[in-house]
Amino acid sequence: MVLSDDPITAAYQAYLDKLIEAGLLIPSGVMGVYGRSGTFEHIVERFENYVTRMGAHLQPEVIRFPPVLTRHNYQCTDHLESFPNLMGSIHSFLGGEREFVELVRKKQNGEDWSTDLKATEVMMAPAACYSLYPACSGVLPENGRIVDLTSYVFRHEPSVDPARMQIFRMHEYVRLGTPGQALEHRDYWLDRGEEMLRAAGLDVKRVVANDPFFGRGGKMMAASQREQDLKFELVVPIASEEKPTAIFSSNYHMDHFAHVFGIKTSDGKCAHSACVGFGLERITLALFKTHGFDPATWPADVRQTLAL
Ligand code: ZN
Repeated sequence: MVLSDDPITAAYQAYLDKLIEAGLLIPSGVMGVYGRSGTFEHIVERFENYVTRMGAHLQPEVIRFPPVLTRHNYQCTDHLESFPNLMGSIHSFLGGEREFVELVRKKQNGEDWSTDLKATEVMMAPAACYSLYPACSGVLPENGRIVDLTSYVFRHEPSVDPARMQIFRMHEYVRLGTPGQALEHRDYWLDRGEEMLRAAGLDVKRVVANDPFFGRGGKMMAASQREQDLKFELVVPIASEEKPTAIFSSNYHMDHFAHVFGIKTSDGKCAHSACVGFGLERITLALFKTHGFDPATWPADVRQTLAL
């Protein structure tokens, strides 16, 4: 592998090489798409159990959506206007016999056959919670809803940074209700998430953040998101000390999704929503970085916290 002149890129490459050499990640030939070893998955599973244990007293509804979103629901959101470069659109072959012959001919001649495909009814899910909002359309129960979600999500951002995967899992808690309920949820989980990650030995820092909105207009959207304190992240160094990685994020959407999908509180007002997400692969990578590649040698208190 050619070493980069940029020190941060070089640090990413060096750490990625170590993870692959240790067998924790299995390369696919595409940046950001990896297999995970049994040891890696064991930590993901233990951390997920920890998240579930810590949220159990809230008695969340548990819902699991597949990692795809209907194209219709995708189009109801403004993801395309905000993050066109990150989307994953699923296309397939919808032609007949004649087009099929042409498709095979192109493949066999090494020509681009992908332009012969057509959009299907589904997109890759860009966030675990995007499938939930359309499913909540209508009037919420009196105390709103709190939902526990986990899903693989897709973001097209190939990177040498092992913590920036194209497909990874988020464990979210989503609150739908009054503005007060959404904000209380956000604040509660920011504190609780920080405590949980610290108890796992990760020296996280809380920062105001913004989403990577695309283009010139995106800069304004990012600034407005920061000014309104809508997004916070908990960051910790993984491959680079200079550029710590977000391993937990909280988002207060105000009435954005409720407005789009017609979600109302029991007294007929437009609902507000907030979600918090634990990035399971990133947390696992942070644990390996901090405590070493062999979980059997991790500090006793960390092993106890994670019930290893
Ligand atoms: Zn979310």
